[in-house]
Amino acid sequence: MSDISPELQAKIDHSIALLQEAAGKYERVTFANSLGAEDVVLTHLIATKAPAISMFCLDTGRLPEETLTLLADIQQKLSCSIQVYYPEAADVEAYVSENGINAFYESVELRKGCCFVRKVKPLKRALSGHDAWITGIRREQSVTRDNVAFTERDLGNDMDKLNPLADWTEKEVWAYIRAFDVPYNQLHDRHYPSIGCAPCTRSVTMGEDVRSGRWWWENEELRECGLHPGSSSPLKPRPEVSMLKP
Ligand code: SF4
Repeated sequence: MSDISPELQAKIDHSIALLQEAAGKYERVTFANSLGAEDVVLTHLIATKAPAISMFCLDTGRLPEETLTLLADIQQKLSCSIQVYYPEAADVEAYVSENGINAFYESVELRKGCCFVRKVKPLKRALSGHDAWITGIRREQSVTRDNVAFTERDLGNDMDKLNPLADWTEKEVWAYIRAFDVPYNQLHDRHYPSIGCAPCTRSVTMGEDVRSGRWWWENEELRECGLHPGSSSPLKPRPEVSMLKP
């Protein structure tokens, strides 16, 4: 526990308070778990401090094997349950038949179409019937997330959205993972700071933006998959990758 600074402990306490308040305030609140570094922290916080909050993840059908291995490992280690949602088979078959298996490289429209079928529609299904949802997004992650609040109204999904790690730094995320020995995606050890689908994620080099490995062939301000459409903001200089790992 020696890696937990007083500043980080204050943020941990605040995140726990937000989660516990949400568990009491909302009848049905759920955590959209991407299994990234931030989300394994939230998985640990929810499993140990706010277990009434349900958890789910989206298996797009194009996830790296390392992510699926982590999904199994973290559920076993933390004795928690993460429900898995898949795309509708007919939607994927129609998209691939019409556009091709890797059409997302061809245009922003085709990439967003793939994300819609494989992520946005399953997310809608996963959130159906809930009053609020929780994400692990942080302000410093990208140019599209500068204005993220701890609690906001998600107009698209007509429910509240909580971001308990909004003010955490990358260094603090990894300090928590180290201190509590939380399982994490092994791709982080191979310079993947942000991990999504295998064909749309690549490793980055020192000094690059932390999300520069996601949809790297597109303009930076367009790099969102549609799961967090309300978190766009004007382009600003971003923190660089520091390659902090356990
Ligand atoms: S990240 Fe890539 S493979 Fe995954 S849903 Fe989006 S476009 Fe498709």
